[in-house]
Amino acid sequence: MRDFSLLTFARMQQTKKDIRALTKEQLRDFFVNNGDKAFRGNQVYEWLWQKSVHSFEGMTNISKETREMLENNFVINHIQVDQMQRSADGTIKNAVRLHDDLIVESVLIPTASRTTACVSSQVGCSLDCKFCATARLKRMRNLNPDEIYDQVVAIDNESRLYFNRPLSNIVFMGMGEPLMNYNNVLKAIDKITSKEGLAMSPKRITVSTSGVPKMIKKMADEKVRFNLAVSLHSAIDEVRTSIMPFNEHFPLKDLREALEYWYAKTKNRITYEYVVWQGINDGQKDVDALVRFCGFAPSKVNLIEYNPIDDGQFQQASDQAIRMYQRTLEANNITVTVRRSRGKDIDAACGQLANKT
Ligand code: SAH
Repeated sequence: MRDFSLLTFARMQQTKKDIRALTKEQLRDFFVNNGDKAFRGNQVYEWLWQKSVHSFEGMTNISKETREMLENNFVINHIQVDQMQRSADGTIKNAVRLHDDLIVESVLIPTASRTTACVSSQVGCSLDCKFCATARLKRMRNLNPDEIYDQVVAIDNESRLYFNRPLSNIVFMGMGEPLMNYNNVLKAIDKITSKEGLAMSPKRITVSTSGVPKMIKKMADEKVRFNLAVSLHSAIDEVRTSIMPFNEHFPLKDLREALEYWYAKTKNRITYEYVVWQGINDGQKDVDALVRFCGFAPSKVNLIEYNPIDDGQFQQASDQAIRMYQRTLEANNITVTVRRSRGKDIDAACGQLANKT
């Protein structure tokens, strides 16, 4: 009998709707339809989004009866930080448990003046970049907007706790391809930037993509105000396809056309992420192709350090090759930065997120 009731209870939980899938308007309507005031919807909305409560019980200015009524109708599928690891350089990696027990990772990256959150957009990834640890995890599902938002809130809290300052920047460079979960990523950003959420400026948010041309154009049409970063790694189709096989379906010509469209519409500079590997893209012809590829708009190239994920199929290029890239790019008026990795000792650096724990 006991087992039966537990099972029934579990089923009921499953059929209840996640209250955070409701807009503020829908919440207000819900209360009106249940004989309460629309204003109650505002109060609950504030608890859910500004105060990020994990339970109805925590909504202390809402009456007990109302909280019970909410409990009977909804769940709050909040994420849970299952494990937090700290790197010697201050970087923090969170293993985040979702309501269905799947795990994603997010990273807090501190510098002298900033705290950056690196968040995931999907569980696993459907792309197949040969150099990335996340690519080895099957894509299980897209994250919903509040699962993305919650990762940001968790890192904001950690930043206040450990660094005495709020989160300052967000990069969608965790697990997954954000443009393959476009609607939810945009909804999450809306929440992050809205007054009812974290009121962060979109200029402090960067969405990183391997390059899905159709979605880049859609973003341009929607006049989004956050920054765009493209993980390019090579401006030669043959080379790019060999390390990022999906390039066969989204060739550089289409990517370039979409980026030109993006620039024409937004006038926003484009950032390229680029790892230089020995024997793969460390020649003069590679950097020349890069110069030609990004010449149409103000561009910035981040030369990121390779974080080894395996047996040594890929190796970071020599310092000399990196200097050659730097020189050539600068000579062509392209901004270039050389990025050192953070959090390598806890597998929190670019491309290392693979739910090892
Ligand atoms: N799918 C999106 C978001 C992931 S961002 C994108 O591709 O942009 C992760 C960044 O780390 C990307 O620029 C990716 O190319 C890079 N990366 C992946 N594996 C890496 C590795 N082993 N070392 C360094 N950078 C890596």
